[in-house]
Amino acid sequence: MEIKKIGVVGAGTMGNGIAHVAAFSGYQVIMRDVADELLQRATKTIDKNLQRGVDKGKITEEQKKEALSRITPTTDLSLMKGADFVIEAVNEDLNIKREVFSQLDSLCPPQVILASNTSSISLTKIGATTHRPDKVIGMHFMNPVPIMKLVEIIRGMDTSEETFSLTKNLAAAMGKTPVEVNDFPGFISNRILIPMINEAIYALMEGVGSAEAIDAVMTLGMNHPMGPLTLADFIGLDVCLAIMEVLYEGFGDSKYRPCPLLRKMVAAGHLGRKTGQGFYKY
Ligand code: NAD
Repeated sequence: MEIKKIGVVGAGTMGNGIAHVAAFSGYQVIMRDVADELLQRATKTIDKNLQRGVDKGKITEEQKKEALSRITPTTDLSLMKGADFVIEAVNEDLNIKREVFSQLDSLCPPQVILASNTSSISLTKIGATTHRPDKVIGMHFMNPVPIMKLVEIIRGMDTSEETFSLTKNLAAAMGKTPVEVNDFPGFISNRILIPMINEAIYALMEGVGSAEAIDAVMTLGMNHPMGPLTLADFIGLDVCLAIMEVLYEGFGDSKYRPCPLLRKMVAAGHLGRKTGQGFYKY
């Protein structure tokens, strides 16, 4: 099946990045969110990020214009019935995703693949809410989408081979490097990354070192480009906590218990960069 038009549901941090990359790669894009102002903000972000490419001489003004012209922002979910492939990037909440997938399942023609950009939710669970679990798959892009090369391609229990190879080829056509992953809590990326961040928060809580010291050890000593607490602020502490909860519940293993300091910071609304306060002030 040839893919020409991609539906992106959710135009937040990840959704606008996915729409940007899809449009830049030559696909028509229908970008859906729930309010006009969210779509305007998403379009502005895409424009700004493409402009950065123009300023650096990496893309031409013409390429920027063409990419923007391929994106149709809309609040109307029913436009998804014209898409050849849909990527969902709504909030990391199983109930919201379930609702979106069952709506997409009734709107989209039966051959259309429904992919989710979830960071941790089971694709098997999401697939089971549709009548096409063989066509439901994880397409886990990394943040920021236009820059990061990796896409984890996650098979649910019933995902077909055809769905897998089509999705893998699409990720490659979008200039990304797909890596095959099976459906286990946190997949590969967040099963390894988020417990490391959680451990860094324990080290801070127990007074092993200051936030600066913990980050310095990991950047200077382990050659990580960013320390774990800086990275947690960048990801959002609410997102880190939600993923730890998925690991804790999914494996039923106490080694994944979220750090009490992480819970406390989320309860206080100190979510990192997006609220101006996390382990650091912004
Ligand atoms: P976000 O909060 O920035 O954006 C979510 C968007 O979805 C919001 O604009 C919201 O209005 C919209 N939305 C909610 N319900 C909708 C609906 N029914 N239809 C259309 N839009 C709807 O969140 P995000 O950071 O972009 O995360 C989106 C997904 O990507 C989550 O599953 C998250 O786990 C995953 N993810 C996030 C990151 C990250 O670093 N932020 C990285 C990889 C994957």
